[in-house]
Amino acid sequence: MIIQPDKPKCNCGIFGIFGSEHASLQTYYGLHALQHRGQEASGIVSKNTNSKGNSVFNIHKGVGLVTEVFADQSIFHSLLPGREAIGHNRYSTTGASKSRKNIQPFVVNYRLGNLAVAHNGNLTNAKKLREELVNEGAIFQTTSDTEVILHLIARSKLDNQIDQIKEALSRIEGAFSLVILTDDKLIAARDNYGFRPLSLGKLNQAYVIASETCSFDLITATFVREVEPGEIVVINNKTLISGIPESYRINNLAYPQKHCIFEYIYFSRPDSFVFGHNVDKMRRRLGKVLARKHPVRDRDGEKVIVISVPDSSNTMALGYQTELEKLDINSKLEIGLIRNHYIGRTFIIPGQEKREMGVRIKFNTVKGVLGGRTVVLIDDSIVRGTTSKQLISLIREAKPKQIHMRISSPPITHPCYYGMDFPSKEELIANRFNVDIDSIKNYLEVDSLEYLTIDEMLEAVAEANSENFCTACFSGKYPSTVDLTLTKEMYEI
Ligand code: SF4
Repeated sequence: MIIQPDKPKCNCGIFGIFGSEHASLQTYYGLHALQHRGQEASGIVSKNTNSKGNSVFNIHKGVGLVTEVFADQSIFHSLLPGREAIGHNRYSTTGASKSRKNIQPFVVNYRLGNLAVAHNGNLTNAKKLREELVNEGAIFQTTSDTEVILHLIARSKLDNQIDQIKEALSRIEGAFSLVILTDDKLIAARDNYGFRPLSLGKLNQAYVIASETCSFDLITATFVREVEPGEIVVINNKTLISGIPESYRINNLAYPQKHCIFEYIYFSRPDSFVFGHNVDKMRRRLGKVLARKHPVRDRDGEKVIVISVPDSSNTMALGYQTELEKLDINSKLEIGLIRNHYIGRTFIIPGQEKREMGVRIKFNTVKGVLGGRTVVLIDDSIVRGTTSKQLISLIREAKPKQIHMRISSPPITHPCYYGMDFPSKEELIANRFNVDIDSIKNYLEVDSLEYLTIDEMLEAVAEANSENFCTACFSGKYPSTVDLTLTKEMYEI
């Protein structure tokens, strides 16, 4: 048994840099800061110029964490030279997860030169486009939807590379934040709805692109702005002199913005600036609204102990407890669960009692904090509910007076077609109990259970304009065309 968190699997993290002496090393650092967005595999493509003046694309990728794939530090100058690089951390949402061929960035050489691409998101019409391309004679190397983008660009009849990219991106649907490296440009692009984040930064003269701004902080790059939904940003040697990146639109159609609200709930790091706001602030607000709507009082008027499921719910718990105080509820934020950070991705539990051991290996309770107390356990979401159930039974062993669970998002009921991987609809705890919160409460064996409603969740992010968010995994209302008669798997290549 391999210990996996009961959370949706995050999509991917992408990074790009143009005009820096240590491009591949900085990409390594950038990817390291984005490790939470994908832990399955990692890759970097760098570009240098050979003695004949031709561009050379160098690549190194492998399975594992960034530090494992790039454990040999000589790689950066020996294998990955050059002033430009892009990188990718992968968690597979489409494409056979075990295949090494599916590790990005992908590189091709075509009529207009070299092209490398790294993608965060999930295309909803990749299967259809792939079939069309195969019928036209295209030969695919991978089973990833991202390769469709490369083929669309490479097979374009247009002569200008930016026009080719515009044409290709006009044909794809779904979620994509992209970094593309060509012989003379670094290109960043974001789908029309802006599902996934993508930011532009500067490091001295060089330009950087990243899924999240926490990777800028690590390399001391400064945030410039976000890549707009539907925008293509082009950085080339002229940009280094003018300081003005070129900007194009994928097309001239108007789309509503539909950012993935799960980036605020769980995926993005709290120290990142995403969709125009600090994630930390939005996450605290989710906790505050949760406290206002669903406060917990001790039945004897004693202090309520607020704890989080570390680490993803820490910020929400902070917001929750602050708001309880404002409501004049005597409370204290405590570290009641200790998480073991050194389990690694492949901790194997041999023998019996696997289920029981899974959560114990990952968490332990601070018994002195919980014993005899009314405990509020804050979690950002519940997916299958199996880990939550085990966690609650672990907390029970510390003999608290009561355990109340508060979830800072609504019940998850629908699949995500835009790059997040939830288990099947049938496995989701909310569906197993027909969204009957009382039945889920009984299953989890807590004294009370409350989620945020969709409206309450949107109230928490109102400053970022509630209209601008995708909430499809909670509501089933998909912002873009999705054929709901097909299962999510049928969408995948
Ligand atoms: S369906 Fe859910 S996880 Fe997917 S993009 Fe929309 S809000 Fe995010």
